[in-house]
Amino acid sequence: MELPFSESYKIKMIEPLKRSTREERAAWIEEAKYNLFKLSSDKVFIDLLTDSGTGAMSDRQWAAIMTGDESYAGARSFFELKNRVKELMGFEHFLPTHQGRAAENVLFSVLVKEGNIVPGNSHFDTTKGHIEFRKAKAVDCTIDEAFDTTLDHPFKGNIDLVKLERVYSEYPKEQIPCCVVTVTCNSSGGQPVSIANLKAVYELSQKYGIPVLFDSARFAENAYFVKMREEAYKDWTIKEIVREMYKYADMATMSSKKDGLVNIGGFIALRSEEIYRQACTFNIMFEGYVTYGGMAGRDMAALAVGLDESTEFDYLETRIKQIEYLGNKLIEYGVPIQYPIGGHAIFVDANKILPNVPKEQFRAQTLGVELYVEGGIRGVEIGAILADRDPVTRENRYPKLELLRLAIPRRVYTNNHMDYIAAALKNVFDRRHEITSGVEITWEAPIMRHFTVELKKA
Ligand SMILES: *Cc1c(COP(=O)(O)O)cnc(C)c1O
Repeated sequence: MELPFSESYKIKMIEPLKRSTREERAAWIEEAKYNLFKLSSDKVFIDLLTDSGTGAMSDRQWAAIMTGDESYAGARSFFELKNRVKELMGFEHFLPTHQGRAAENVLFSVLVKEGNIVPGNSHFDTTKGHIEFRKAKAVDCTIDEAFDTTLDHPFKGNIDLVKLERVYSEYPKEQIPCCVVTVTCNSSGGQPVSIANLKAVYELSQKYGIPVLFDSARFAENAYFVKMREEAYKDWTIKEIVREMYKYADMATMSSKKDGLVNIGGFIALRSEEIYRQACTFNIMFEGYVTYGGMAGRDMAALAVGLDESTEFDYLETRIKQIEYLGNKLIEYGVPIQYPIGGHAIFVDANKILPNVPKEQFRAQTLGVELYVEGGIRGVEIGAILADRDPVTRENRYPKLELLRLAIPRRVYTNNHMDYIAAALKNVFDRRHEITSGVEITWEAPIMRHFTVELKKA
């Protein structure tokens, strides 16, 4: 018989999980004001809040931790990391930062000015935040297909070249500091960008004299999808594909907490010596000296190894197949999820599951609370609470989609855990008609309310 797929690693160290009863969870979530962020992690059985900084390191990475060089300037671990990034992505200049948003803060301090326009494919929240904080504007140029969760398209992270050219021809180039391409596109559901599209975006940007920046948190997962879905690259190694992707970028910012396979860290990498020099000053002010940038030497050493491991096919196949495994189970149970299944998370369509809950009572949040009480699983709401109020009218914004995101940490859970998650969600799905009311806000912060919002049962 054909041998089934199995994981490309075995487990050397374990961390016990705490089980709890439904009654305990019902009490805990009430105490936490129905906000999953407010739960302490020992009250969570399977934690799918985020895939950021929650992955497991390998034995090679732990070994690198022990031999990391903590020198303030010129640490060996810095050069190991800088060389790894050069080898993988081809960038001459490199600056470490403490995480991805810090890389954005440093680089945008050089690039982005008041009144600027920054086109891209559905900018990530912190990227958009750093653009808007500087009184510039992020323009979403993602292809229209990305916004239909049921439509099958291999590269829903792609940029619409017509939309991009409209921005380039409407504004003078001095007003457009860069185009941000997020690989994979987090905000459209971990959807990849094809190399054909990266190349076309780069050529169009060159024609208008605009640099291209890759927001690179999940660049390795993007390369895996290129190998599987873009015919021309099916026989290439992941490292060859990564190298090819970055031919079409002038700069990169990275959150190492995702495809860096470490728990904290980030970096900037770029070709321009001029921008690098300017960025060094901001790095020293905000992050640390240019050869550590807020990272411990040991963490840079572990990151250098992590980048090597995350760009190996066997690791990526295990990773992406686990997300597919969970997604296919849910599809089999009839649970409506975003399609095609992305690289790091499953997005459950709460509008389709809980249409009887008024949208004013936050369907995705309600589904998240139900799933927690059912099985101790913590997801995150990507819906009206996250969308916040209109800054001018102060009315609640109701986005088209109400999604519950189940982000899967890297190398942490087994497929038995995936079975457990799918079963718990099926149980909630099977009693969906009995769920007719949701939650109401009792207190909220003036901005970024989702982290601290307090709710009660409606
Ligand atoms: C996580 C993330 C960031 C921000 O990185 P942090 O390390 O969380 O600061 C930026 N862009 C994308 C696409 C991300 O996923």
